[in-house]
Amino acid sequence: MNIVLLGAPGAGKGTQAEKMIEEWGIPHISTGDILRSSVQEGTPLGLQAKEYMDAGELVPDLVVIGLVKSRLGEPDADKGFILDGFPRTEAQAEALDEALAEMEKRIDAAISIDVDRDVIVERLTARRTCRDCGKIYSLINDPPADPAKCDECGGELHQRDDDTEATVRNRLEVYDRSTAPLVDYYRSKGVLHVLSGDRPVDAVFDDVRRIVEG
Ligand code: AMP
Repeated sequence: MNIVLLGAPGAGKGTQAEKMIEEWGIPHISTGDILRSSVQEGTPLGLQAKEYMDAGELVPDLVVIGLVKSRLGEPDADKGFILDGFPRTEAQAEALDEALAEMEKRIDAAISIDVDRDVIVERLTARRTCRDCGKIYSLINDPPADPAKCDECGGELHQRDDDTEATVRNRLEVYDRSTAPLVDYYRSKGVLHVLSGDRPVDAVFDDVRRIVEG
């Protein structure tokens, strides 16, 4: 199944994607994760992307579209994929549809996770990620035993550079302006499912399962 996860930053897309990988083993393609690794590795792409990311602005369409197209061409994406954080603009959504049509594929479901704004700011500023295994924690809802250390692998937990309150507010504005219209885009294609994300992770995942398993 080919799935797009929609929803503001902090809606829980990454957390649901983790559970979907565990359950169905389909690849998780997060443009944010790909860009963050490029920044860490100091590649030309990373150097270009970093200033947009730190400001909470979108990296130019051409850059991310190229990234996703080449990732979708890898063999593991043949059995389906979860796109998380892409598309974020109408131009990206159209480019995605064109690329998929060339591969005789389509998006089967766009799952939009809705969460109240104040909850998002609180969630994002409390988010910590393991530098080694990528596991996501919340200091409020899912705190690790030691706030600096991953329960799973002992790796160092850190706060993303763009999870500070000022950048989070800008990311939300960018979302409303550029990405929220994609909900209508996918509704008009008849593949949209809207879920409330103001609930425990497992309750949201029960709905995701109903969508994926039909
Ligand atoms: P995320 O991890 O999805 O919240 O993405 C973190 C940051 O990476 C965003 O604030 C953007 O600067 C950049 N980014 C990720 N995905 C995209 C995309 N599809 N289009 C443009 N910029 C993106």
